[in-house]
Amino acid sequence: MKSFHVTTFGCQMNEHDSERMKGMLESLGYAEAERADEAELILFNTCSIREKADERFVAHLNQAAALKRRDPERVIGVGGCWAQSVKDQVFRQFPFVDVAFGPGQVHKLAEFLTSDSLTAQGFFEFEGFTGHLPTKRARDFQAWVQISVGCNCRCSYCIVPSTRGTEVSRPFGELVAEVERLVAEGVREVTLLGQNVNSWGRDLRPERRSFSELLRAVDATGVERLRYTSPHPKDMREDVVLAHAELRSLCEHIHLPLQSGSTRVLKAMRRTYSRERYLDRVALIREHVPDVALTTDVIVGFPGETEEDFAATLGVCEEVGYDGAFTFIYSPRRGTEAASFADGLIPHEVAVERMERLVEVVQRRARERAQRFVGRTLEVLVEGSSRTDPTKLRGRTRHGKVVNFSGLAAPGDVVQVEISAATSQTLAGEESLLARALG
Ligand code: SF4
Repeated sequence: MKSFHVTTFGCQMNEHDSERMKGMLESLGYAEAERADEAELILFNTCSIREKADERFVAHLNQAAALKRRDPERVIGVGGCWAQSVKDQVFRQFPFVDVAFGPGQVHKLAEFLTSDSLTAQGFFEFEGFTGHLPTKRARDFQAWVQISVGCNCRCSYCIVPSTRGTEVSRPFGELVAEVERLVAEGVREVTLLGQNVNSWGRDLRPERRSFSELLRAVDATGVERLRYTSPHPKDMREDVVLAHAELRSLCEHIHLPLQSGSTRVLKAMRRTYSRERYLDRVALIREHVPDVALTTDVIVGFPGETEEDFAATLGVCEEVGYDGAFTFIYSPRRGTEAASFADGLIPHEVAVERMERLVEVVQRRARERAQRFVGRTLEVLVEGSSRTDPTKLRGRTRHGKVVNFSGLAAPGDVVQVEISAATSQTLAGEESLLARALG
């Protein structure tokens, strides 16, 4: 039996695609190896958020090249967004690579592996949903469900539309059937995945569908926990917010990328919403789901960002009080509109100084917000042992908060945990043994 190893970089969509790659390879009779140096087939699922190929990825790739020099029979493959963004250049930059494929071509890897010739081949069309391929989940009680591929937005800093194509939604019936299967297999938590998940369904024909319709249908399958990522504020409509207020399984967590608190910068980013519209969405969400956890993405140092613009970003973060945030320093990405914004480039040291101020606000507000959980008993899906203390367990609340706690539970269990402390990042507590005794 031949063996394979996959190293994954980037976002949840890549994690999902790697699970599908592994499922497909196992269906071809391959077995997963613990480490790359034990595998005959060495694969990388790449990210292209940054222009330069991710240094970590290149380091891994060069290690694979050394392994191939020792054993020329080894096959090296590069998939994902970076491969899609450079296409056949992969082979020019790294001549030892045997196969390269974009996110829409994972299935072509099977074709390549079962073909006679093993000369270097690249596959870069946007053809299919990896969601159709067999899967090998990282955890058998949690599953990603890809509901769409691509993105029709044109955020001026983002390469995704050119590496993942235009938006294509998977059919309603197919998705509901997939979740029903997963629930029957014992999956407790499903996360719906899309670059722009809440615009799902608009391109479906003959019948357009809405994202809230899908949420309601998935909830009706009996799944215990339902999440989705990543939404766009422009599509955060009332019907989606009401779904959060009404559906049993839909978790009290919404990730709402802000990117900037300045309407002028949002315009330059082509985010299609203003600061006021964004805050209006936050108010609508909090009106219907008062206890919701809100997280976000923020970019500092976008070309032309003035101190006043940045103050507006700090202002929104202070006002909203996010439960968590992913913060990035802008980096130009060739092939994006913003990469040609020559005026107003922000000196790196200025961007770093702004990032420090932003992190201070975000962490302080997240810590303040997290205190609302102290003294409460929260439902936690156990994911495994704590990363900081092996004697403790680790899991997530419905709000998406990580909890490190003492208890008797096992991965996959849903337990009640009494929260005793909270930081900006995590909660601490103890499993309610009374709740365990009462079942
Ligand atoms: S919504 Fe914007 S940032 Fe998100 S994937 Fe689409 S183009 Fe990129």
